Amino acid sequence: MKGTDVSRAKTLYKLQEIDIFQAKVRRRLLALQKVLTGNDAIEKARGEVEALEAEVQSWQQAHRDAELESESLETRIREAEQRLMSGAIHNPKELESLQASIAALRRQKTGAEDQGVKALETLETLQATLEKKRAALENLEKAWQTKRAEYQQELTKRKQEYVYLKRARATLAQSLDEATLERYEFLRKRKQGRAVAKLTDETCSACYMQVPKSIASAAYSDKDELVLCPNCGRILWLG
Ligand SMILES: [Zn+2]
Repeated sequence: MKGTDVSRAKTLYKLQEIDIFQAKVRRRLLALQKVLTGNDAIEKARGEVEALEAEVQSWQQAHRDAELESESLETRIREAEQRLMSGAIHNPKELESLQASIAALRRQKTGAEDQGVKALETLETLQATLEKKRAALENLEKAWQTKRAEYQQELTKRKQEYVYLKRARATLAQSLDEATLERYEFLRKRKQGRAVAKLTDETCSACYMQVPKSIASAAYSDKDELVLCPNCGRILWLG
């Protein structure tokens, strides 16, 4: 029962183990490469901080504008009051009009001051939020730096693993003839990556079908042909 056939099936089973492991390593490599290209949570947090910074800047500008407006109105009010007090205007209509214009300028100034206060209040709220968001971003970045280093280390390890598996597979494949390898590849593609199944207690470990005694004994005795499971068509290995 330890004829050439058995060892061929055994070699194929080993090859399959390598192939399955290699596929797993490859998937992990791709996932690591993808995860290392960037961090969505950090990008999102950074975007929020930048948007808030822009908003703060625009409210700072609004505050400055309101202050300038208020100062310029104050100057105009003072000039108008000086004219009023100078005694140069005697015409009652002109006096009335000047008083009305001073009152209007005062109203405008109050409006500008209100805007300035509103800008300051908004700024206070925005800056408090901005500080919180900046702190959160910093925490995310720190955590990501640690995680990133871990991912980088794993990536290096997995790459080495992948290279090792590739070599091991090539060495193992060399011990098999081309027809056997082709048969293995053909089955592998059609059987979800599992071309070889263990035969345990006369049962195929892939499809759980009990194989007829004649097949089981052929698997033990036949030295030339690979024995296939009559149900799923996989190569049987005695394990
Ligand atoms: Zn089967």
